[in-house]
Amino acid sequence: MSFSVKILGSNASVPAHNRNQTSQLLTMMQVPFLIDCGEGTQVQLKKNKIKAQKIDYIFISHLHGDHYYGLIGLISSLHLYGRKKDLNIYGPPGLKEILAINLKHSQTALNYKINLTEWIYGEQQLLMETQNITVHSFPLNHRIPCSGFIFREKPKKRRIDRSKVIADIPPSKIISLKNGNDVFDQDGNLQYKNEDYTLDPAPSRAYAFCSDTKYDEAIIPYIHGVDILYHEATFMDNMTDRAAQTHHTTTIEAGLIAQKAQVNKLLIGHFSTRYKELLPMLAETKTIFENTELALEGYEFSID
Ligand SMILES: [Zn+2]
Repeated sequence: MSFSVKILGSNASVPAHNRNQTSQLLTMMQVPFLIDCGEGTQVQLKKNKIKAQKIDYIFISHLHGDHYYGLIGLISSLHLYGRKKDLNIYGPPGLKEILAINLKHSQTALNYKINLTEWIYGEQQLLMETQNITVHSFPLNHRIPCSGFIFREKPKKRRIDRSKVIADIPPSKIISLKNGNDVFDQDGNLQYKNEDYTLDPAPSRAYAFCSDTKYDEAIIPYIHGVDILYHEATFMDNMTDRAAQTHHTTTIEAGLIAQKAQVNKLLIGHFSTRYKELLPMLAETKTIFENTELALEGYEFSID
């Protein structure tokens, strides 16, 4: 089943150099999750031929405008296009009030329901759970309350070892083996020992999103070992002081977090507008963590 993230925007603060502000579309088990919603997000969805009405889950990291000013526009468009099904939004404290004020003063009564969960800042929190997926928030270190998100597949079932003779095993007993059980005959005698017929489950995949944060090793336990880590890298290394003052991260610092968290791949984004050319940022990060890529708009990164 596919597990991929499409970058819709990755510039910091303002749109510049044909780059939009932060937004990403993660797809797991064919379910799309919108992460952050900078002001260009609707246009980017259209450009990438993504149907906005299919999005049922939106996650907002914090209330700096470059991460959510597209949200009220998207909510409004979904209404105008006749949406009926619920929209589930997970965002910072205060977002409910902001949306309510927008809708109140435009005298808009939405023809669908918004279920808005405001996450609690400062702790890891299970935001949503399906049969196969969990999404947690965890605290980042920014100027205002800001959360990262981790999307994980739940542990999978054991796999039948096709190299073993299984043609004679009835389907109900195959299911039992996949569930990790030994299979017994009618007399209670062991018929198929689980470990003789099954292999370990396929690994569960995980994606971590760290929007805006200063360098902080406290986040490492939350993101340890994920397949792909998106981590902001607003500045290059010669602006470490400025990064610390503004609660942002440099290329080198993002590489260090990826290295210490032992992730597989690092995506860097939230590029300062001062950088038109991004390849030097990539090169600098790679001196610390080789498997790094730029989170460029329109690019899609898959986890196999
Ligand atoms: Zn911010």
